[in-house]
This record gives sequence, C-alpha cells and structure tokens, in this order.
Amino acid sequence: MGRLDGKVALVTGSARGQGAAVAQRFVDEGARVVVADVLDDVGKETASALGDSAYFRHLDVSDEHEWASAVEEAAATFGRLDVLVNNAGVLHFAAIADQTVEDFWRVVSVNQLGCFLGMRTVASVMTAQGGGSIVNVSSIEGLAGAPFLIAYNSTKFAIRGMTKTAALELGASGIRVNSVHPGLIDTGMTRAAAGGDGADLDRACRRLPTKRAGRPDDVTGIMTFLASDESVYCTGSEFVVDGGATAGHAFTH
Ligand code: NAD
Repeated sequence: MGRLDGKVALVTGSARGQGAAVAQRFVDEGARVVVADVLDDVGKETASALGDSAYFRHLDVSDEHEWASAVEEAAATFGRLDVLVNNAGVLHFAAIADQTVEDFWRVVSVNQLGCFLGMRTVASVMTAQGGGSIVNVSSIEGLAGAPFLIAYNSTKFAIRGMTKTAALELGASGIRVNSVHPGLIDTGMTRAAAGGDGADLDRACRRLPTKRAGRPDDVTGIMTFLASDESVYCTGSEFVVDGGATAGHAFTH
C-alpha cells in the first residue's frame, strides 16, 4: 500500500530536477500526478516515463489564466486535487548595485507570484472537496541571506511568509500549507550556477555534517510526508532539508 494511495497531486516545475523526483516518488507511493512546467518536451518525457498515473500540462506559474485552466483540467481528469507542490523556481545572481528591475520582477513573478497564484487557484477546489495539502518550495535562502541573491532571497523569504498566512486562512477549509527549505541540491539549476555539467557541487559542501551536496531524491521523503495524511497536524511550518547547512553559523568549521 502506498502512502499517497488515491491522492491527486499537481507538481509545478516538475519536468526536471527536484520536481521530477517528487513526481516520480508520488507515483511510486500511489498518487496520480500532473507534471506541470514550461519545458514542454522534457516535461512530456518525464510524464510519459511515469505511465498512466501522470500526464504533462504546460503551465507558466506566473500566468493566472494558465493556472485556472490547468487546475480545472486536473480536477476534471482525475476527479479531485489533493496536493499542490509549488516547486517551480528560477535562480538569478546579481550584485545589489547591478540588479536590474526587469530581472528582479522576473524572479518575483515566477517564484513569488507563481506560488501565490497556485495557492489561490487550488483553494476553491480543495475547499469544495473538504481539504488538501499545499507544499511551497522555499530554500535555505528563505531562512538566511546570501550575497548576490537579492531577488531570489526576497522571493524565498516571501514564500515562507505566505505559507504561514495561507495556513492560518485556509485551515478552516481543511487545507494545510507548509514550506520546504532545501539546501544545495544537485540539479540543473545549481549546476548551471556552478559552471556547468562538470561542476563539483560536493566540494562546496565539504564542511557540511553530511559532506556532500543533496540529491533530488533526498527531498522526496519530506514531500511525501507533507503530501500524505501522516502530516495531518502539521501546518504553517518550515521543513529544512539541507544536510546541516543551517545548523551552525559563519564561524563553524
Ligand atoms: P531546476 O532548474 O532543475 O527545476 C526548476 C523547474 O522549474 C524547471 O523544470 C523549470 O523549467 C521550471 N520553471 C521555471 N520557470 C517556470 C515557470 N514560469 N512556470 C513553470 N515552471 C517553471 O531546479 P531545482 O533545483 O529542481 O529547483 C526546484 C525548486 O527548488 C525551485 O523552486 C528552487 O528555487 C528550489 N531550490 C533549489 C535548490 C537547489 O540547490 N537546487 C535549493 C533550494 C531550493
């Protein structure tokens, strides 16, 4: 018996990376999953590898109209929608002095507005069916600052705050809302930032208690817990998956 038997989930940004790993794990645990992303070809491949329990849906999370039709289609196709994972995100480095307004808003519109629109869109469907679970992917960059990440930082802190507001507001409808805060996870996003496919991400993690970068599969356990009824008494909370990155402080060796 799977931990998500009978549940239907929509995972944004799940063509690749952590979102794809979450989609795979959810299907393995018995859920039916909508793989939603702007990367159509990759997303279709990811969904088709998951078999009949998943399908791909183009969804730009910064577009409220695309949200409306994606959620309507998910509920019509699978009959319900129990879980939303707001995972889609973009990373952008710039010194404060060089940060353009255009790039700032681009990051906000995907990471922050996208998360808000997702919660707003699924709230009515979940309320009508008696509840659901929303998992918002923040970051350790939503817990502490990081140089050259002014736009990304601001959105990941915003996700952490919106999660608590939504948990308080939607709790009466049986909807739980929690945030997940990954550390450095080995995905296309971090490899691109570190210089490409050959980048040694473990090197940046050699002072962590765990001595290595995280892998996309490392975050799927907490996602499964939060999506399932095992977390029935968890809402408005922060779940850190960072290999110990935030356990110490700047003086720690
Ligand atoms: P990734 O780049 O591999 O995956 C991100 C996915 O989001 C991609 O498939 C991309 O196409 C999709 N996406 C981008 N813009 C979109 C949009 N407008 N609409 C829909 N989909 C869109 O990166 P990842 O590491 O798997 O990141 C997943 C999430 O985890 C992101 O929110 C990221 O900020 C967060 N995160 C990542 C790390 C890390 O170290 N990799 C750490 C903390 C948090």
